[in-house]
Amino acid sequence: MATNKPFIIRVAIQSPLRQLFDYVIPKTILEISPNQQPTSGCRVLVPFGRRLVVGLIVTCPETTDYDENKLKSIENLLDKSPLIPQELFALFVWAAHYYQHPIGDALFNMLPVTLRKAKPLSEPSTKYWQLTAKGKGLGENSLNRAPSQKALIGHLLKHGRLSHDDLIRLFPRNILHTLAKKDLIKDSEDVKAKVAIKIVLKQVPLSLNTAQKIVFAKIRYDDFRCYLLNGVTGSGKTEIYLRAIEDVLRQGKQALVLIPEISLTPQTQKRFSDRFNVPIVTLHSGLSDKARLIAWTDAKAGRASIVLGTRSAIFTPLEQPGLIVVDEEHDQSYKQQEGFRYSARDLAVIRARKENIPIILGSATPSIESLNNCVTKRYEQLMLPQRAGEALQPQWSIIDLKNVNIEAGIASTTLLAISETISNGHQVLIFLNRRGFAPAIICHHCGWAADCHSCDTKLTVHRARNRLICHHCDYQQAIPKHCPNCMSHDLVPMGEGTEQSEDYLKRYFPDTNIMRVDRDSTRKKGAMQTVFNEVERGEPCILIGTQMLAKGHHFSNVTLVVVLDADSGLFSPDFRSQERLAQLLTQVAGRSGRGQLPGRVFIQTHQPEHPLLESLIHKGYNTLAIDLMTQRRQYELPPYRHLAVIRAESQWAKTAETFLHHARATAQKICPASESITYLGPLPAMLEKRAGRYRFVLQINVTQRSMLQNLLTQLNHVLESYKGSKKIRWSVDVDPQEI
Ligand code: ADP
Ligand code: ZN
Ligand code: ZN
Repeated sequence: MATNKPFIIRVAIQSPLRQLFDYVIPKTILEISPNQQPTSGCRVLVPFGRRLVVGLIVTCPETTDYDENKLKSIENLLDKSPLIPQELFALFVWAAHYYQHPIGDALFNMLPVTLRKAKPLSEPSTKYWQLTAKGKGLGENSLNRAPSQKALIGHLLKHGRLSHDDLIRLFPRNILHTLAKKDLIKDSEDVKAKVAIKIVLKQVPLSLNTAQKIVFAKIRYDDFRCYLLNGVTGSGKTEIYLRAIEDVLRQGKQALVLIPEISLTPQTQKRFSDRFNVPIVTLHSGLSDKARLIAWTDAKAGRASIVLGTRSAIFTPLEQPGLIVVDEEHDQSYKQQEGFRYSARDLAVIRARKENIPIILGSATPSIESLNNCVTKRYEQLMLPQRAGEALQPQWSIIDLKNVNIEAGIASTTLLAISETISNGHQVLIFLNRRGFAPAIICHHCGWAADCHSCDTKLTVHRARNRLICHHCDYQQAIPKHCPNCMSHDLVPMGEGTEQSEDYLKRYFPDTNIMRVDRDSTRKKGAMQTVFNEVERGEPCILIGTQMLAKGHHFSNVTLVVVLDADSGLFSPDFRSQERLAQLLTQVAGRSGRGQLPGRVFIQTHQPEHPLLESLIHKGYNTLAIDLMTQRRQYELPPYRHLAVIRAESQWAKTAETFLHHARATAQKICPASESITYLGPLPAMLEKRAGRYRFVLQINVTQRSMLQNLLTQLNHVLESYKGSKKIRWSVDVDPQEI
């Protein structure tokens, strides 16, 4: 009889193993809630080796390949209903396979930290206070000697029942306890309710300009469509997102908005909360586990109408999904660079298709991948070619660094322009992608340089902290007083970092407010906000910083943007480096002249005739992107081919390299090299030695994704049982962003 059949489940467990495990749910557990059968997406507590661990049900198969009688029983069922809606869970499983990551590790990565433990998900509730019978019957003149207590009783008498949060805003906490002890008031808990939203808007939206109107009219909500909103910086893309979100909110649906950086959150969040009269939750890495779980459950239960978050927010369940927005879709931070190496942007498109809802990818500098998807008509391109409002596109100037006087990385022409801008009462933004004082220190006498012993790199000088620091492994030491090689005291910093330029500018402009924004200066919580508040005051100032400054901030009084060193990006061996540099320069330039004042952009370089710079300045990003697409096609690179990289690292160079030779040989047995599949490597990684480990890569380049998937699945299986794998760390990176 069917009832005698064991209830088999196939479970993912947080481990580096690429396999699922079969268990049985005992009758005693099934009988607890006979109407609610466990399904995929529910967590279970299972015996695994000698421990009890949390697992996720992936499927409930009819049969098992093992002896049914020998299957272990689960210890406990942790969720009555699945944590994740079925479509989304299917996406989770798909993503684990697609990115070729061990399934348990991948799936648990997509859950909030709190849910990776054996704790049931409790619905958040709100605490309320009301008067007891004794409290209601209190005479007019009682509590006369305790006016606050009396006031609180009066308040509850007037309003009936009030939430704890509302009350402690008006009365000290201890009064609540005192009155509860006297049995005059009592508390109770209610599950947090969904608020019915009648009025969506808090603020009247700007009326759209002609270009925005045309774009907005094209957006449809009835099924899956992917739009690439390609609009120059300040063209009003965000305004389009807000309008589209408004439309889905009116349909009673939710919007999921992805943004690249935590530092952008306060500004963006404010823009959303100023506009909408709906609950908004923000998910980013700075949240505590508890706060994150609350935001996650609010989204899942439909209590939050807008979910705003960075990369991992793509895994947030929504009760009524209506729209996904990915702002700055070209941004590298959407790709996780370690562990489960997923691309949140790409998963967003797949999710939208699974949920059958529209998605808007927005950028002033769209990725070559997305532009190609428009060419092939998979995405629909929407263009905003001009800045909204009155702001004009900035004027670019190339500053040739050859044979000119340079101090702390700043050419004299540039210095003059900075000085002019400040005396005109405007603000300057200086961009240099190297933090610290100098990228190296050398001995002027014998040529000795301070290297990191664990990495193939020089130690960066941090003068303010009097330390030499490795930016790859965080090794630190004091700055030596003399050369360890020849004892000379003539140790000099080489090259410039943000700290040095800041130092120099402070001496040159002693009366101007000069602020540095990089990972060192913004370590303290709120430091970034303090800088932004200062800039928003509009007084003349100079902001100097790393790429943190390049992202979406809106500073209306900045009229000069300087890129101190464009050269490092021109000569990187990574095939995406030109695309990246073009995006970076365009984005940084976009910070200039966003208000009423016209802006200027200075690019300092030793290569003023470089075709990339010429093309970018004279033809703009979109035309340059077409050239880059042609190059990619010629060199058989993404998006025309698909890449995977197998990375291996070990304390011994030979060990890592041998492993990848084995990987390549195995792969070639499965799929011999041909027109449609090529292998490259093993090659040393860009930084061969890092934190004491030697790193190698093997590149696989194919014409078809399905071929890559089949190959990698079989290959991983073989590599998992590689002898000596304990001495190696290896991983697979599908659609790598860096090689
Ligand atoms: P983007 O997201 O493309 O950088 P934003 O939406 O932030 O552009 O708009 C840039 C600036 O232009 C903002 O200050 C915004 O308020 C303003 N703006 C956008 N749309 C309009 C409009 N239709 N009319 C007037 N100002 C607008
Ligand atoms: Zn020396
Ligand atoms: Zn190091």
